[in-house]
Amino acid sequence: MGMMKLFRIRGGVHPQGRKSLSADQPIRDVPLPDLLHVPLQQHAGQPAEAVVKKGDLVLKGQVIAVGQGRISAPVHAPTSGTVVGLGRYTAPHPSGLPGRTITIRPDGKDAWADLPSPMDPFECEPGVIAKRVAESGIVGMGGAAFPSAVKLDLGRRFDLHTLIINGAECEPYLTCDDRLMREHPDEIVDGVRIMAHALGVERIVIAVEGNKPLAIRALAHASKDVSTIMIQEVPARYPMGSEKHLTQTLIGKETPARGLTAEIGVVVHNVATAMAVRDAVRFGRPLISRVVTVSGEGISNPGNFRTPIGTPVRHLIDHAGGLRGEPARLLLGGPMMGQPLADMKAPIVKGTNGILALADLPPTVAQNPCIRCASCVDACPCGLVPLEMSAAIRKEDMARATHLGLMDCIGCGSCAYVCPSSIPLVQYFNYAKGKITKQQRAEHKQMETKRLAEARTERMERVQREKREAMAQRKAAQTRTKPERSETQQDQDGEEVSA
Ligand code: SF4
Ligand code: SF4
Repeated sequence: MGMMKLFRIRGGVHPQGRKSLSADQPIRDVPLPDLLHVPLQQHAGQPAEAVVKKGDLVLKGQVIAVGQGRISAPVHAPTSGTVVGLGRYTAPHPSGLPGRTITIRPDGKDAWADLPSPMDPFECEPGVIAKRVAESGIVGMGGAAFPSAVKLDLGRRFDLHTLIINGAECEPYLTCDDRLMREHPDEIVDGVRIMAHALGVERIVIAVEGNKPLAIRALAHASKDVSTIMIQEVPARYPMGSEKHLTQTLIGKETPARGLTAEIGVVVHNVATAMAVRDAVRFGRPLISRVVTVSGEGISNPGNFRTPIGTPVRHLIDHAGGLRGEPARLLLGGPMMGQPLADMKAPIVKGTNGILALADLPPTVAQNPCIRCASCVDACPCGLVPLEMSAAIRKEDMARATHLGLMDCIGCGSCAYVCPSSIPLVQYFNYAKGKITKQQRAEHKQMETKRLAEARTERMERVQREKREAMAQRKAAQTRTKPERSETQQDQDGEEVSA
C-alpha cells in the first residue's frame, strides 16, 4: 500500500455510488448469442476496414478488419462461425444511427485461429510490445477507447517518469474494474509491468478509490514483491477517474489544456487494458471480449459479465434476468458520462464498461431557469463557468462558448449533477462540441480541398512551364545544329542547293 502525498483538485462531486447492486457479483461468462454484430468503429480514430466477406468462415481471434492510419485498431472475430452480414447495423451511439458492422453467426465450436506466438515481454524491445498490442486491437477499456499502442509508444516522444494505472472507477454503479482487480490481481500486476517496460518507466502507481478496499488489498498482495509498483488509495470523489485529475491528485501537476499527460511525464492506462495487454503479449490473444457491469434499479439480477464483443445489449440484459418494468433511462456507461442507449439491438464494443437501466428521470424533464447560484462553477473540476457557457450556447454563440473554455470541458457531468434547476448542462456542451468539431472538420476539408486545388494548379503550371522550357531547349538545340546540318547538306548537295 502506498502512502504518497496526495494533491487536492478543484471541484468534483459525491454522487451516490450505488455500487453495492453489483459489486459482490463475481464475473460470469455470457453464453454466445445467435448473432454477433461487430462494428468496425469501436475506437477513437479511423474505422477499421473489413478483410472478410459474406459467407467466409472465421475462427476465434482471426483478424476480420484491419486498422486504417496511425490512430485506429484492427478488429478480430470474437468466436468461430460464418460471416452472414457486412453492412450497416445499429451502433452503440446515442444517435442510434447505423455504422459499418460485420455480423457473425457463431458455429458453437468456439475454435481458435492460429495466434501469434507468446512472447517473453522482458526479453523484447519495448517497440515490439507496442506492435503486438496494436495487432491485438487493444484500446483503452475505461471508456475512451483510444488505441493503447499509441499510448504505449509515448516513451519515444516524451520524457516519461510514471505510469499511472487507473483503477479509480469513479462512476456510480460501475463495478467491472473493481471485480477484475479483486479476481485477477496477479494478471493485472503482470500486465502493468509489461506496460511499464514498453514505456521505459520505472515508477508505477496503481490508483484505486478508497471505496474498493478489497481491490486495494488484492493488488497490494499481488504486488508485494514488486518494488516499482505502489498501490495508492485515492479519495472517492467524482471525477477522480479522469486521466488529468488523477494525474494531478497523484503528481501535483496540471496537464496543459488540451495537452497530454505525457507532457508532464505521465501515461495513464486503465486496469482492464493492463490485463488485455498481458493476454496479447503473453498468449497472443486479441481483444475479443470484456467485462461489462449490467446494473441499475431496472435490472432484475445486476452483475458483471465477461461478454464477447458484438453481443447485443438485449442478450446481455436477458442474461442479467431481464428488465424490471420499463426503465426511465437506458445508458451505455455510467450515469455521469454515459450515453443514452437508443436501441437494445446495439452491440457491446471494446469501450463499453456498463449497461444501466435506471429508474430515475433524465434532468431535462424538470428543467427550470438558471438562478445563478454558481454551484456548477464550484463543482467543475476544470475551473470552467458552466452557466456562462450554456448561456452562450443557447444563443448559438459558439465563439463565446469556445472563448470560455468549452473545448477544455471533459464532459464529466459534475455541473449538471449539482444544478438545482436541473439544467442539462452537459447536453448543451456535447451539442456545442459536436457542432464546433463538425465546423472545424468542414473548414479543414475546405482548406484541404483548396490546398489540393492550388497544388494541382501549381503542378499543371510547372508541367506546362517544363514543357515550354523543353521545347525551347529543343528549338535552341535545333538552331545550334541546323548550320552544321545545312553545311553538311551543302557539302552533300553542293551546287544543287545553292542553285
Ligand atoms: S461537464 Fe464540463 S463544465 Fe461541467 S463540470 Fe464537467 S468539465 Fe466542468
Ligand atoms: S448550477 Fe444551475 S442554476 Fe446554478 S448557476 Fe449553474 S446553471 Fe445556474
